[in-house]
Order: sequence, then C-alpha cells, then structure tokens
Amino acid sequence: MPTKILVVDDEPAMQQLIRMGFRKPIRKNEYEFFFALNGKEALEVLTATPEVGIILCDINMPVMNGLTFLSQLRESAELRKVIMVTAYGNMENIRAAMNGGAFDFVNKPIDFPDLQITLDKAIEALIQLQEAERTRSQLLSAEQELVLAEQKARQLRELDQVKSRFFTNISHEFRTPLTVIDGMADQLRDEPERWAISGGELIKRNSQRLLRLVGQILDLRKLETGSMTTQLIQANVRGYLKYIFISFQSLAESRGIRLQFEADEQEIWMDIDPDKLMSIASNLISNAIKYSEKGAEVRMKLSKEQEVLQIVVSDTGIGIQAEQLPHIFDRFYQADGSSTRFAEGTGVGLALTHELIRLFGGTIEVASEWGKGSQFTVHLPIRRQATVQDPLQAMSDIWVDKKEEGEEEVGVSVPEAEDHHLPSLLLVEDNPDIIQYLIACVGERYQIQIARDGQEGIDKALELIPDIIISDVMMPRKDGFELCESLKTNESTNHIPIILLTAKADIDAKLTGLGLGADAYLTKPFEKAELLIRLEKLVELRRKLQSRYQSLEAPNPSEHPIIQKQDAFIGAFKQIVENHLDDPMFKVPDLCKEIGMSRPSLHRKVKALTGMSTTHFVQEIRLQKAGILLQSTDYSISEIAYMTGFSTPAYFSKSYKSKYGESPSVKRKA
Ligand code: ADP
Repeated sequence: MPTKILVVDDEPAMQQLIRMGFRKPIRKNEYEFFFALNGKEALEVLTATPEVGIILCDINMPVMNGLTFLSQLRESAELRKVIMVTAYGNMENIRAAMNGGAFDFVNKPIDFPDLQITLDKAIEALIQLQEAERTRSQLLSAEQELVLAEQKARQLRELDQVKSRFFTNISHEFRTPLTVIDGMADQLRDEPERWAISGGELIKRNSQRLLRLVGQILDLRKLETGSMTTQLIQANVRGYLKYIFISFQSLAESRGIRLQFEADEQEIWMDIDPDKLMSIASNLISNAIKYSEKGAEVRMKLSKEQEVLQIVVSDTGIGIQAEQLPHIFDRFYQADGSSTRFAEGTGVGLALTHELIRLFGGTIEVASEWGKGSQFTVHLPIRRQATVQDPLQAMSDIWVDKKEEGEEEVGVSVPEAEDHHLPSLLLVEDNPDIIQYLIACVGERYQIQIARDGQEGIDKALELIPDIIISDVMMPRKDGFELCESLKTNESTNHIPIILLTAKADIDAKLTGLGLGADAYLTKPFEKAELLIRLEKLVELRRKLQSRYQSLEAPNPSEHPIIQKQDAFIGAFKQIVENHLDDPMFKVPDLCKEIGMSRPSLHRKVKALTGMSTTHFVQEIRLQKAGILLQSTDYSISEIAYMTGFSTPAYFSKSYKSKYGESPSVKRKA
C-alpha cells in the first residue's frame, strides 16, 4: 500500500514538480499523491480520502491559508503528519505552524533530497503513530467486549434468578397441594370410613388446583408460541361476569372482604371465549381478594363505550409499589418475591391475563397506590359474529366443579382437646388445607393451637410456651426462619423444639433453618409417618432433658448449643435458689424477678425441662441440699431444716419423707 500524501499549494506548477521529483517512488507504488489548491479544497480531499497520512502544505494561499487549514484539522492533525512549506527564514510562520501541530517544515524553493529526508522521517513517525493507535483501539475494543460480556453475564444471571425464583415458587405451589393429596390418600387408606368425605373433598380440591396451575403454564406457553386457539360464542357478558364475580362471594366472606358489582347496562352482548374470559376475570378477582386484608372492598364495574367493553376490578388492599408496577405483567414476576410475601403465588396469573387480553385485541392497565389498593382496567373490543350460546354450558369441565380459588376456604376446626395431659403443639401455617391435613395426622396425640403467620406464631409461642412447634417457612409478615430465630434467642422459648415444614427443597434453605436452631426440617410433601417419627424423637429428647436436670449436680457438658443454653438456664436457676437457701421467705415471685421471666413463662419452661412446677423444683433443690447436709455434716435436723429454707422442722421432715420415703432422722442414722 502506497503512503498517501496530500500536497496543498496554490501554484498548479507544484503538482508537476512533485510528480517529477518523486517519479521513482510513484512508479514503485511507494507514494500516491493528492493535490489541493487551498486549505478548503484540502479539507474536502481529506473527507473523501481519510487514509491520507502525510500532508505537505504551503502557508500563503487564497480562500484558506495553511495555518487556518492546520487549525481546522484539529485532533486529526495528530493522526497525520503535516509538513509545512514556508518561505525561507519566515520564523513567525514556522513557529505558528509548529505550535499549531505541524510535524516539521521545509523551505521554498523545494530541495528534493531535503524533502525526501523529511518525508522519510514523517512516514516513520506515522507508522509508529498508527501502530500505537491500533494497539489502543484493540485495547479499547477488548475493554468494550469485556463490558459487553459482563452485561450479558449480568442479564443471564438476572434471568437465572427469575427462573430459579419461579421454580422455587412453582415447586412451593405444587408441593402444597401435593402434601394434602398424598397425606390424605394415606389417611383414607388407613381409616376409610372416617376420612371418606372430608378427605375426598380435600383431595379433589387440591388436585384441581394443580390441574389449573399446569393449565395456566401451558396456556402461557401456547400464547407465546402463537398456538392458542379460541372458541367464540355470543353471550350477555354482563350476566356471565357477574356470575363469575359472585362465585367469589364465599371466599371473600371468609376473609372478611366485601364484594361490590356495578354495571351501566342491563345486558351487553358480545363474542367471548367463556374459558378465557373466566380465566381473565378470575385472575383479577382472586388477586384482588388475595392481596387485601380484612375489611377491604373488591369491586367489579362494567361499562360500554361505543364498541368497547370496559371491566374495572379494583380493591382497597395492600397495593403495589410504584417501581414494581411496570413489571407485574411480566412472566413469573412477583412484586414481592420474599418468603414473607403477602400471599402464595407463581407470578404466572397476570402474565397469562395480559396475553389472553391481547389475544382478543384488548388492553389492560393498572393503577395502584402502595398501602391503598389497586385498580386493573381491561378494554375489550365488542364484536357480534358468533352464534348465541349459554357461556356456562360452553365452559370446559375444568371450571365446572368450582372456579379458580373461588371456593370457600374450609373453616379449620380444631378438635377440642379432651385430654389435657397431651403435649401442646403450636401449628404455624397459612394454608387451611395443610392445617386440616396436619390436624388429621396428629390431632389425637397433641393439643393443637394454630397461628396463621410467623408473627402470630411468635406471639402465641410466647404466650402459650407450647411443648412443640410445627411451622411453615413461607408465610406472610414473618417467615419460618424469623420465627425460629426469634424464639430460639428468647430465654422463655429457646427450649421449644421447632419443626420447619417447607416446600423449598433447596439445601440452602435447609441450612438456614438448622443454623437458626430449627430442630428438624420436613420438605413437603411429607409422609405422616415421617412427621410422627420426628415428633416422637423430639418428645424423647425432652424426656432426656428432664432426666438431665433431676440431680443437683451439674450435668456432663453437651456439645449441642440448645442443650448448653438449657444447662446454663438450669444452672443459673439452681444458683439463685442456693443463694437464698436459708431464706424461707424467698418465693417464686422473687425468683422470677431475679431470673427475669414472667411467672407463667418460667413455670412452663421449668415444667418442660424438669417435668416439675417451679415451686416443686425449688423444693426439690432444697431437699437434695438437705440430704447432702444430713450425710456430710453434724448439724442437727432442725438446723438443717432452717439452713435449707424450711419454715419449720416438722414441715421439713414431712416433705423429706414424702419424697424419699424415709424421715430425715432415719437417713441420719443410716
Ligand atoms: P401471583 O401468582 O404471585 O399472584 P400474578 O401474576 O397474579 O402472580 O401477580 C403478580 C404480582 O403482582 C403478585 O405477586 C403481586 O405482588 C402483584 N399483584 C397482583 N395483583 C395485585 C393486587 N390486586 N394487589 C396487590 N398486588 C397485586
């Protein structure tokens, strides 16, 4: 490739001169010359031939002189080598040119050997410059590639997170009904008479929930691949939508939510696909109910303007945060993906709703205020071409039994515990079917109390100090991990065994659970037998603990952090009693004050750990101490009675005898 050289000179004779002077390198294709008569023309040549690397430029020219041209080159002057041609000794011009970024200068009239040397020098500098430039741009593009790769990796990671969140949710969504189905099937097999009706209902309802879930996911897929077909009939959409809305009445009632239906017209006839319209409406209504609290109101309002149907579903529920709003129609998106989110879900519903509405040429919009409520507005074009039919008859079977989550929640009835000696069990779970199944599993062996979310679980645990806790992980307000952490770090409750039930099958969750002190962890769906074994093991552990604290001596140290905590608690308890050993006025309320626990909490904790009431355990410590004194000292029996805090020697003798079967005097003789 020849070096491209631009000669800028207003004398046309110059061109001739150059061609003559450099004829050899021109012939050898070492140089290729371009010519311009002034700075302006030169700029044009450069625009047309940007590869020009060397410029030989006169200073005095009409239109645009050499110095102006140089200044116009600006940055590109650095990427080229400009040699100025100046009148001999015109220092002022030479200085101006050099300051303006020229590489070198030659004098007029041109001395070719001198010009050749200058050109060689300029070409060498140019090559160096180009190489440096190449390296720089290579570095730059490597850097850009890195940035791009990072961007891509981040996008992949995000997609991955969305997917993994979806799989976690979907597995939760599947495992919960599966637990009920699987477990109820066992109950039915074992006691067919007893569970025939309620068990059968639970199984039916939960398998339909699964079917609908699968249906939703498949529908979404069909919509995305454009293979969704429609089955249009003409019907009075007001009647149909009202029917769908009203079918949520009992669910709403069971949650303390009011429903309100309004329509401008008595009848609105249009073509609909009953299944798909059912899906759209049910999703919006069930979300409105799902994301609302007691006392809220859910409304459906229909109106018709020209040939467009408007359906507004609004609620006065929890609302959606502004930054989440643009995403809620995305697939698998959940405004709150945490395990404490307000309600269970997969994030499929709204994406499906959106796609279905688009399929019918409609639109959906959302307006929402965090903490105040949400409003979804659907517009559907009205057409009347299909044949008139009853939508309820045209609906496919999947809806017929009952509509999407439109069924009434089963009122959970906790069996009245008849036997108060049964251990107490606190069940922390937000799904009524799971509660019902668990009651079916263990209701006969435990007195059951129920809390519907983690916070209620913590409150009830502190109030009741149950013997054992079974808790779900994903729940509103506080999740199972928070419950575990809170109870295991509280002196009153840190001895209570906790079994976490969860659909999250991943190991991380398991470790988190155990790290926070959960005593066992069951993954849904679990077998009844597995649950019973876990419960039994934990009750057995409690029996071991009780025998651990029977004697006055400090037990052998344990490696188990929970046991260590109990050892410390019992140690502190005994120490306080011993510190006040000879004070008969030191009573349980004083003990509570020193230990920093309320009387009922202390009572339940002591009972759980020792099998004795607080008073009884204090007495036990006094008597054991007295036994030691009887054997190892010469104090009289009455002295020992006073030393160990008994108000009278007679009371001491009586208590001693009832515990050990012999009176202190007999013991002393022996
Ligand atoms: P999900 O199965 O989680 O309910 P959806 O696709 O139906 O999935 O909804 C996506 C998310 O939008 C939900 O997780 C919820 O956070 C939010 N959302 C939908 N409807 C409402 C509503 N009426 N009020 C508050 N939040 C809502």
